[in-house]
Amino acid sequence: MSEFEGKAGIVTGAGSGIGEAIALRLAERGARVVVTDIDEAAAGRVATRIEESGGQAVSMKHDVASPEAAEEAVRLAEERFGALHLAVNNAGIGGELNPVADYGIDAWRKVIDINLNGVFYGMKYQIPANERAGGGAIANLASILGSVGTANSAAYTAAKHGVVGLTKAAALEYAKRKVRINSVGPGYIDTPLLQSLDDDARSALIGLHPLGRLGTAAEVAELTLFLLSDRAAFVTGSYHLADGGYTAR
Ligand code: NAD
Repeated sequence: MSEFEGKAGIVTGAGSGIGEAIALRLAERGARVVVTDIDEAAAGRVATRIEESGGQAVSMKHDVASPEAAEEAVRLAEERFGALHLAVNNAGIGGELNPVADYGIDAWRKVIDINLNGVFYGMKYQIPANERAGGGAIANLASILGSVGTANSAAYTAAKHGVVGLTKAAALEYAKRKVRINSVGPGYIDTPLLQSLDDDARSALIGLHPLGRLGTAAEVAELTLFLLSDRAAFVTGSYHLADGGYTAR
């Protein structure tokens, strides 16, 4: 299937988990991909995998908390691939687990810088490039914690609610300019982000999903690719869950 033939896209945090699954699938379906991650080696491995499978990719060390790096990623896409049509602002961290009164100020700033400011910096440079390309589509990784809360993760929850709102505002601004922007709300997904959980915590999380399991990166990637594709041509400004029923209760 070459649904994204002729398109080029950036995926941030694409060295692992959901971002990796999205980058691999975009390339399988014809897109040329700028694979970025703060972990340069991980981004390089994913780009190499894409090229070994016959796709086109370039990797870049990219801290999404840096506006300059966001601009550089867009410049790289346009230099290598001629244009930027697609972007997935996926990079994110879990952050400290503590109630608000005990939450470290630096820990708070770090989560907001990466999980929220990073999405703004990304779109600030991606959207003009999408317009130069004649149109585009952006997907921002929020979370179920973009619409509900959880204890001990105030910074993550606030940042992900922020991503949902930022997505709506940007979508309204650019709807008539052919750039569609949506957010994705995964439930708990079995990726390295959850590696620090012990067995009890993992079972407890599974129990919160009516489908009785964690999600997979592939399942989130499929929803994200749908939102990026022309199949979603009438979809913008909205928040799309892949949460095994978590928020339906
Ligand atoms: P992951 O830890 O497997 O991958 C995240 C990637 O982001 C890593 O490769 C990491 O190196 C990179 N990264 C971290 N900080 C960065 C920075 N400052 N700049 C650039 N890259 C950076 O995590 P994942 O589970 O694949 O999560 C991807 C996205 O999905 C995140 O935004 C996360 O909040 C969101 N999400 C994950 C889950 C889950 O349960 N795994 C649920 C809901 C939402």
